[in-house]
Amino acid sequence: MSKAWWKDGVRFECQGSGKCCVSRGEYGFVYLTLEDRRALAKHFGLSTRAFSKAYCDKDENGYWKVADFHESCRFLQGKQCGVYEARPVQCRTWPFWPEVMSAKAWAKEVAAFCPGVGKGRLWTPEEIKEQLRIQADSEERS
Ligand code: SF4
Repeated sequence: MSKAWWKDGVRFECQGSGKCCVSRGEYGFVYLTLEDRRALAKHFGLSTRAFSKAYCDKDENGYWKVADFHESCRFLQGKQCGVYEARPVQCRTWPFWPEVMSAKAWAKEVAAFCPGVGKGRLWTPEEIKEQLRIQADSEERS
């Protein structure tokens, strides 16, 4: 990992484009851990069961996700996340996801459309690793 292309860190700061909340083929899913569903349920003042029934469904492998993600996440309001304080882990860890951290995937799946790349503060390799760990852990618990 020390020879990763991001070994000197990566400059990234969300620019509020909302582009990470719209469909990009295989990335058009917002997966939810139980903690995510609990937090979102609380945000809406619902029980976790009621929230899950109203706003979620499962993919073909049985993983919980936000339902009705067609062209964009149902919680996107304009370019803003309508549930920002309670947003799921995968939204908090973007763009430091294990599946996009190869140089090739980063260029194609992140840098090509996300205006936050190259902006703002420098994320250290240690911080990036922590984001990757959190995201990988959430993928196991979705
Ligand atoms: S929950 Fe919010 S941050 Fe996550 S994809 Fe939906 S609108 Fe975007």
